[in-house]
This record gives sequence, structure tokens and C-alpha cells, in this order.
Amino acid sequence: MNLVLFGPPGAGKGTQSLIISEKFDIKHVSTGDLLRSAMKAKTPLGVEAGSFVNKGALVPDSIVIGLIKELKVQIGKRGMLLDGFPRTTAQAQALDELMASDKSQISKAIFLEVKPEFLKDRLTGRRVCSTCGATFHIKLKPPQIAGVCDNCQGILEQRADDRAEVIENRLQVYEKNTAPLKTYYQNLKKFVSVDGVGEPETIFKRIAQVVYS
Ligand code: AMP
Repeated sequence: MNLVLFGPPGAGKGTQSLIISEKFDIKHVSTGDLLRSAMKAKTPLGVEAGSFVNKGALVPDSIVIGLIKELKVQIGKRGMLLDGFPRTTAQAQALDELMASDKSQISKAIFLEVKPEFLKDRLTGRRVCSTCGATFHIKLKPPQIAGVCDNCQGILEQRADDRAEVIENRLQVYEKNTAPLKTYYQNLKKFVSVDGVGEPETIFKRIAQVVYS
């Protein structure tokens, strides 16, 4: 089974991806995570991507499509959960071609729906462990000790693109480039929408229901 998970920034894609990939035993593929680890390692890809990511812009299609193609070779026919990819219609078309090339296909494109008024709070309050990547929120999921990861005692940091001044741009970029994917997947009869507000396990139950519908 190959699933696409998409929605506005702050919809909770990362949290749900971890649950979905574990429960459905499929490979979690996050282009955001891949780009951030390249940025941290300062590889040529990371340096190039950083100039887009840090200002809330999309990394060019050719770069992210290339990343997904490489990964698909490594993963083979194992099912995937695509988190944050595709983000443009060109990426969605490239993904369909890639899937068709080994006779697979996207089973469902799950849209996580969260009203805009919730998104800014979710993003500005998010903190990520610099060591293990665990995610916290200063109000909604605070760590036991402020600024310290509950899992590994690593230091919690705010993502550069979660700063208030960058968030506005990410939301606009989402509306212009990624929201049209709703129509793209509706036309292919693969679109399902899930209410993204609530406890992570509750949201996952909604997702499981629509995946098997
Ligand atoms: P995410 O972790 O999914 O929120 O992604 C963080 C940032 O990485 C985005 O704001 C973009 O700058 C970049 N990014 C991640 N996935 C893509 C993609 N599929 N296409 C273009 N840029 C991406």
C-alpha cells in the first residue's frame, strides 16, 4: 500500500506519519526530514535546499523528485507513506509516473484538514529535539523539563522555518502550490479528507477508517 499524506503546514503530518507507518508497516518517507538532515550535514544538496527551506519556500521540483526517485530504488516494492511529497502538481505527476514504472500506484491521498486559525499556534509552539528528532509543543505537548527532550535529554530547538515571520510565507506557498492537489487526487478518485483536530490516536482512527473505505 502506498499512501500520500498532505495538508497545510502544522496539520500534524509528521505525528500521524509515525503512527501510520508503524501500524501499517510501510516505509515513512519525509522529504522535509531528508532535506533537514542534508542541511545539518552541510552536503551540497543541503546547502542548496537550505536557502529555500529557511525562508519557507519550496525546494525546486527537480531536486525533490530526484530524492524520491533515489529512495524508490532503495525501497523497491515495499509500501510507502509519503509525508510532505508531493507538494506541487508537477511532483504528483512525477510520482504517478514513478509508481507506474514498477506497476505500483498510490492507493489513497489523505488530506489532513485543520482550520487556518489553529495552524500558526501549532507551528510557533513546536520544538524539535536536536538529537533524536522527537517533537514537542510548548503548550499542547510540553516536555517535562522546559527545553529538554523527554526521550534522550537532547536540547529542544525551534525549526528556522517555524519562526512567525516565515510561517506566513509557508501558508501562502501551501495555498498556491499544494492545495490544488486536492482537485488532482479528487479527479483520480484517490482523495480522502480527515479532520486533523484531536488526539493523535483519535486522528489515526479516522485515517484508518478512510484508508480501508
Ligand atoms: P516539512 O518538514 O514537510 O514541513 O517541510 C519543510 C520544508 O522543506 C518545506 O517548507 C519546504 O521548504 C521543504 N520541502 C519539503 N518537502 C518538499 C517538497 N515535496 N517540495 C518542495 N519543498 C519541500
